[in-house]
Amino acid sequence: MAKPVVAIVGRPNVGKSTIFNRIVGERISIVEDIPGVTRDRIYSSAEWLTHDFNIIDTGGIDIGDEPFLEQIRQQAEIAIEEADVIVFLVNGREGVTSADEEVAKILYKAKKPVVLGVNKIDNPEMRDQIYDFYALGFGEPFPISGSHGLGLGDLLDEAAKHFPKHGGNEYADDVIKFSLIGRPNVGKSSLVNAILGEDRVIVSNVAGTTRDAIDSQLTYNGEKYVIIDTAGMRKKGKVYETTEKYSVLRALRAIERSDVVLVVIDGEEGIIEQDKRIAGYAHEAGRAVVIVVNKWDAVEKDEKTMKAFETNIREHFLFLDYAPIVFLSAKTKKRIHTLIPMINTASENHALRVETSILNDVIMDAVAMNPTPTDKGKRLRIYFATQVAVKPPTFVIFVNDPELMHFSYERFLENRIRDAFGFEGTPIKIFSRERK
Ligand code: GDP
Ligand code: GDP
Repeated sequence: MAKPVVAIVGRPNVGKSTIFNRIVGERISIVEDIPGVTRDRIYSSAEWLTHDFNIIDTGGIDIGDEPFLEQIRQQAEIAIEEADVIVFLVNGREGVTSADEEVAKILYKAKKPVVLGVNKIDNPEMRDQIYDFYALGFGEPFPISGSHGLGLGDLLDEAAKHFPKHGGNEYADDVIKFSLIGRPNVGKSSLVNAILGEDRVIVSNVAGTTRDAIDSQLTYNGEKYVIIDTAGMRKKGKVYETTEKYSVLRALRAIERSDVVLVVIDGEEGIIEQDKRIAGYAHEAGRAVVIVVNKWDAVEKDEKTMKAFETNIREHFLFLDYAPIVFLSAKTKKRIHTLIPMINTASENHALRVETSILNDVIMDAVAMNPTPTDKGKRLRIYFATQVAVKPPTFVIFVNDPELMHFSYERFLENRIRDAFGFEGTPIKIFSRERK
């Protein structure tokens, strides 16, 4: 299901990132502790009452060397393109500035709802300062204070009124949704074309969906698939299309809508930092992952090259140790036919539910083999395990004290679960809960 998207726009220093962080709160991320994976705080999921949505801080999208006004203009355009509702933020202590008017002019042209937030109204006495902002033409201004967390509820209530009322999933449940992510020029569009050009692939529809993303629908061996549109696939030639953070944003949106993510690497150029960051997002989102090394035709190789490249990938992507790797070429079509079977396996494992009794046998055998850790004389006791969710498979282990479940022991249990059930291509999550 596609969540509604809220984008915050406004000139610098009005408090966009402060508000973003307030709304997002302290979200726990499973890869934040993994070295080498940095997190751009420009896009996050968030909740308000019963609403789940995604939020973008457009101020964090670095446009490059453009002049100041051009930067905020482009950020506003990104907001218009990506968001369902725009929060236009101004500074209540400074009144309406010409930069605010610039932003307003762009937003008038958009047919998207705009909610006007007047920030830095830190106490009720300052509320009179909001009236000037009626002049911007977006109706009632909402007084808020990012630093004090005031007024955000009313602002979000207003935003939520404009969320699209979509009826459930974008595609039927039995459709496998996948996307290809990777930095520009690794060959994502070439790969999409190669997949669509496969002999046994029947392309049923290449249609625009809600956000005029270009999803391709296809059938292979009677199974239905959708290739989700990604950054880089639409070459509009706009400046911001090529900025790294914007392409990351597009990749995030695609990951979110996918069951399986193909992380595409350029075999000719090798792995760079940006590849790791992008792969980190797929992992963090809990999607199934296949690592695709493209342009293998262009690599000078002997019998050791593939193994060496694989070792290199495993070293760089420690957190993706469950992801299978395929070496192929969009250009010569070599091994393109192996992709869909790999997507199938990853997708099946992503949705796999295991039997509780077998799961508990596996855990108890594991404990017998490698006794649970102790801390200050207290031993971890494991009572019972159960799978509570799929996509990705998520397990809860009931224990005497979750503090005693060390990372390394959890890792050991994960490996035992993987040995027993496979789960190739999918992350799995394990939580410890206390039971007296
Ligand atoms: P951005 O450039 O729009 O993302 O703005 P920031 O979130 O970085 O905030 C700019 C400055 O305004 C920082 O010094 C913040 O501490 C300050 N600020 C943000 N929100 C408030 C607020 O509600 N009240 C006051 N007094 N200062 C704020
Ligand atoms: P995207 O930006 O990730 O969508 O990348 P493109 O599909 O536009 O490809 C970027 C460049 O790499 C183009 O010049 C392609 O012709 C080239 N390319 C794509 N796949 C292959 C491949 O398998 N082998 C070789 N040698 N070149 C490729």
